[in-house]
Amino acid sequence: MKNIRSKKLDTQVAHAGTNPDKTYGAVAPPIYQTSTFKFSSAEQGAKRFSGEEPGFIYTRLGNPTTAALQEAVAILEKGTDALATASGMAAVSTIYMTFLDAGSHMIASEAIYGPSRVVVEKEFSRFGVEFDFVDTSDIEEVKNAIRPNTKLIFIETPANPTIKLTDIKVCADIAHSNGAVLAVDNTFMSPILQNPFDFDADIVLHSMTKYINGHTDVVGGILVFNDKNLMIRTRKVLFNLGGTIDPHQAWLVLRGLRTLSLRVYKAQANAQIIAEFLETHPKVEWVRYPGLKSHPHYELAKKQMHGFGSMISFEVKGGVEGGRTVMNNVELATLAVSLGGYETLIQHPASMTHSAMNKQDKIDAGITDGLVRISIGCEDVRDIQDDLENSLSKI
Ligand code: PLP
Repeated sequence: MKNIRSKKLDTQVAHAGTNPDKTYGAVAPPIYQTSTFKFSSAEQGAKRFSGEEPGFIYTRLGNPTTAALQEAVAILEKGTDALATASGMAAVSTIYMTFLDAGSHMIASEAIYGPSRVVVEKEFSRFGVEFDFVDTSDIEEVKNAIRPNTKLIFIETPANPTIKLTDIKVCADIAHSNGAVLAVDNTFMSPILQNPFDFDADIVLHSMTKYINGHTDVVGGILVFNDKNLMIRTRKVLFNLGGTIDPHQAWLVLRGLRTLSLRVYKAQANAQIIAEFLETHPKVEWVRYPGLKSHPHYELAKKQMHGFGSMISFEVKGGVEGGRTVMNNVELATLAVSLGGYETLIQHPASMTHSAMNKQDKIDAGITDGLVRISIGCEDVRDIQDDLENSLSKI
């Protein structure tokens, strides 16, 4: 479709990345399940390698199916380019590897996806990378953490699993006035509900395992850029490290993406109802959902998000035991990690997704033992509510 960037969001979701004129009329982009590409001559091969002639070389370095997915996500995120990766963590670690050297410093949200933090503390520290994990929802903490060698600010907003929000624009300004780049993990929002480039972020990343694919059957990640130089710098690292996506995986994600906005809107409508239900429930201590007025960052949510999403954290009465009772008694909600699929998933961050963090860091980050995280799906909301009501009654 011509001028897809000028179309409305739902039209972009339906059509971005497709080009039937280039694929023998195939309406759905084909899977180019090949590891390598033939050159018509030795001269052409040399020109492809030198970059003089565009074209595919070898699937780790690019593939038409992967390119279709990258184009689609870049359009939805309002970026210029994207690099799809084998997993969300491949996207995260590629960013760290690209922008952090021995002796450089990174600032990140203290409550981010567990491995995004642990890989810095345990692995990048071995190469002399310095870091501070702070409460980025408090801008003073970000300012105070800045050092002359800060090269990267990495935020997740909403943060996993505390659902705290960080002001993207303010962090971008702090990063830029100190010569650093700002990367935003936008997994919880998907490109439908938040576009960090609107607030001057430099890199947006997603675990496509979550909303973008949305069918709980593929692992994948993506990095989106709106600056060619940053993309080229990152691409070199990604191609050499090898964390690129496989074409079949890319094709499945592209298929899932076609219903992204439908799923996101439906799950979000359900989540608002469930959050309000939980907030008034006698067995619930507190609920964190950006669409509740009680959320400390409700005003920021309205400013930088197009909707409140479908991730809810809550603490039930009775601490760990109470949480365990809920998780062991749900029937419709599935007790499993991950999020952003068509189905409702429930999990216990302290003992599951964030278990590798040390105890004090979890306490400091607000990941309490009684915190339960729920990813609301697209089921009939009355069934989700009945399921939670029933399991809460067992406390
Ligand atoms: N970022 C966030 C916010 C996540 O929730 C996850 C996974 O749960 C990741 C990154 C890592 O993604 P993946 O599991 O696809 O490697």
